[in-house]
Amino acid sequence: MEYKAKRAGVPLVSVDPAYTSRECSQCHHIDRRNRRSQATFACRACGVMMHAEDNASHNIARKGESA
Ligand SMILES: [Zn+2]
Repeated sequence: MEYKAKRAGVPLVSVDPAYTSRECSQCHHIDRRNRRSQATFACRACGVMMHAEDNASHNIARKGESA
């Protein structure tokens, strides 16, 4: 993985995956009940709904940027 990233000229950032699937990417509220189902993320705090994978990828991207 590291070798492939270097070869592609892409910086590789390790991201702690903790809470990425249960944290709201909009308001950052963390609640395991935010994860309605395997596919659906619905924030208990701000009410945003999106695909769980999309939400997690937003969280991972943000963590990568701040690393
Ligand atoms: Zn929210």
